[in-house]
Amino acid sequence: MPHPRSLDSDDFLLSVVVPCYNEQEVLPLTHARLLEAFGAAPFRFQIVYVNDGSRDATGAMLEEYAAADTRVKAVILSRNFGHQAAVSAGLAHADGDAIGIIDADLQDPPEVILAMLDKWRAGYDVIYGVRRKRKESLFKRTAYTLFYRIFRSVAEVDMPLDAGDFCLMDRHVLDVLNDLPESERYLRGLRAWVGFSQTALEYERAVRAAGVTKYPFRKLVKLAADGIFSFSTAPLTLVFYAGLITAAIAVAGLIFTFVQRVFDITVFGVAPTDIPGFTALALMILFLGAVQMLSVGILGEYIGRIFVEVKRRPTYIVRTIERTAEGGTAGPKVVEAGREPQAESRK
Ligand code: UDP
Ligand code: MG
Repeated sequence: MPHPRSLDSDDFLLSVVVPCYNEQEVLPLTHARLLEAFGAAPFRFQIVYVNDGSRDATGAMLEEYAAADTRVKAVILSRNFGHQAAVSAGLAHADGDAIGIIDADLQDPPEVILAMLDKWRAGYDVIYGVRRKRKESLFKRTAYTLFYRIFRSVAEVDMPLDAGDFCLMDRHVLDVLNDLPESERYLRGLRAWVGFSQTALEYERAVRAAGVTKYPFRKLVKLAADGIFSFSTAPLTLVFYAGLITAAIAVAGLIFTFVQRVFDITVFGVAPTDIPGFTALALMILFLGAVQMLSVGILGEYIGRIFVEVKRRPTYIVRTIERTAEGGTAGPKVVEAGREPQAESRK
């Protein structure tokens, strides 16, 4: 059972991590909304923006916010590393006692984080948002629904349905997450994998407040594949069973042919002496070829991931961290790579 926590101490700090990639249209709205949502709260808060190699004015805007407000920290990555890496970078630089993750496009209402905080106070360690309704195209909705159900049935972790990255977690959980060694990070999977006391909070997912999606179909497929291949060996089991079934069919065919010839049985007008169809043969060769290529492809997915992990390259590279110290002076510029030790990031 979760143990209630107290928020009373003046020391409590809430961090909100916001990954941004080419978000110049929506950023002013987002920034204002975040300040509005948390500005009046009776505790300290911090916004950790991550500029994921944007090519528009996002970087300049984030630097401006960081220069104007001591509560804003802008982590500038050296190039575009992708959403999951950007969030990981933000998480490594969040100083809060409780840490929220939210997209820059206001699809997830920031106010929900306050409701999540109530659950944190009640003692939960991870509070993840579950989308009650998605205001997205039928195709995207169907794809998401299908994916989450397939994932749940094959994954080795107890993954909640329809939960994205939008969440709030306790410092302890974040420390554990930050210390996980893999460089290809599927955060919602890792978050479920670490355990602790987790609970869902339903909310309605809005449409993007401005700008266009930074997740084309190709990237969504990659995210889905990352989820399946890094949290499940079910595809390998599938290959194994495909082999078994094919072998069983072959043996059955062998026995059938043997019996047919010995007893000279005519089946569906085909006598044992008739020459079997060329089409059937060609189709079988094609089918088996396809199954083999698919199997090699599935093996390849795992080997590719092993390859990426053994290189031990960092998940992201930080170019600079922009922030303003209390007195109004700019903080020191920091250059670093990857996930640095916790002690470092908790300044
Ligand atoms: N994002 C990012 N790097 C990328 C792509 C996206 O940091 O390479 C951020 C983006 O700025 C947004 C969040 O990830 O804050 C989710 O992206 P988006 O809203 O475009 O995805 P969708 O909601 O359409 O799936
Ligand atoms: Mg979005």
